[in-house]
Amino acid sequence: MGEFDLIRQYFASGGLAGQGAATLARVVHGIGDDCAILAPDAGMQLAISTDMLVEGRHFLPGADPARLGHKALAVNLSDLAAAGATPLGFTLSLALPGVDEAWLRSFSQGMLALARQTHCPLVGGDTTKGPLTLNITVLGQMPAGQALLRSGARAGDDVYVSGAIGEARLGLAVALGEQHIEDAALRQRLLMRLERPQPRLALGQALRGLATSAMDLSDGLVGDLAHIARASNVGMEISMAAVRNTSPIWNDAQLRQWPFEQQCFWGLSGGDDYELAFTAAVHQREAIARAVQQTQTPVHRIGRVTARAGDTAQGSTSHHPIWLEDPQGRLAPAQLASFDHFK
Ligand code: ADP
Ligand code: MG
Repeated sequence: MGEFDLIRQYFASGGLAGQGAATLARVVHGIGDDCAILAPDAGMQLAISTDMLVEGRHFLPGADPARLGHKALAVNLSDLAAAGATPLGFTLSLALPGVDEAWLRSFSQGMLALARQTHCPLVGGDTTKGPLTLNITVLGQMPAGQALLRSGARAGDDVYVSGAIGEARLGLAVALGEQHIEDAALRQRLLMRLERPQPRLALGQALRGLATSAMDLSDGLVGDLAHIARASNVGMEISMAAVRNTSPIWNDAQLRQWPFEQQCFWGLSGGDDYELAFTAAVHQREAIARAVQQTQTPVHRIGRVTARAGDTAQGSTSHHPIWLEDPQGRLAPAQLASFDHFK
């Protein structure tokens, strides 16, 4: 099977079948010409995000291809969600060591199922031979000037996260054999959280004009919140118990035996959550609750934004902008590092 047959067979449909008129109208030309031609709606700005996934680096060799296809697109859509964007489409650049049709079938099905579900058709890409590497670029749109950024948090704002933080990281520990979870259903839940993140697109769009800042969580909560804090020139005080309590798994007979700090570790410094973290003014609490209801997305308030962190440290020289509050109400600067490929 040659390059063009491969594209035609597995990718050219683009997940466009069954899409509504609005989605179809935005794709003037999809796969097959020199460029994809898209038509954003009037008055909208373009949102663009790109993510590369390398075998052995971002996913385990031999990873299930359908789940890999899903996750590769999901992590990109999560960036659109964080900006409050609506998807327009995506491109896929693929380096493959060879043509494995069973692999390609599962991979493209997993990816295009999510593309259909999120109205984000595949509109182009590139295919080459090489060590298994995926690069996706997602394109989205939002009303001009309404993108959610990392830089708008203000002292006094509330800090929120969507979903259950830390479960994906515990799922990774299970997948790697580093942790044994006795309850089979719980084990399955954790693995699904690792392998099938659900991009919070509806929530992100509902937060436009409400949240003062937002980002998606990929590298670990504390490190990711520090990006918002630095971009906004503020600090944050985060309740360790509130972060832990975003997940119900600590009621499990085995996991509730773990010491508090160990329970908190996964949510604070884990990664792969692909949930949204955002800040909003206190007077917006009711509006946030309505957005939560309307989008049926679980959201938890985990802390508050403070004036610049290093300045409020009681005798400490640390300038880490994120401070953690323990159950006794004591504050300490967070020491937990997040994931960095070059460290
Ligand atoms: P060009 O030589 O102009 O770069 P290609 O021959 O690489 O074009 O690709 C032909 C068409 O197939 C283009 O429309 C391109 O966007 C699309 N395409 C190539 N690879 C992929 C892929 N992995 N997924 C989706 N579309 C692809
Ligand atoms: Mg090409």
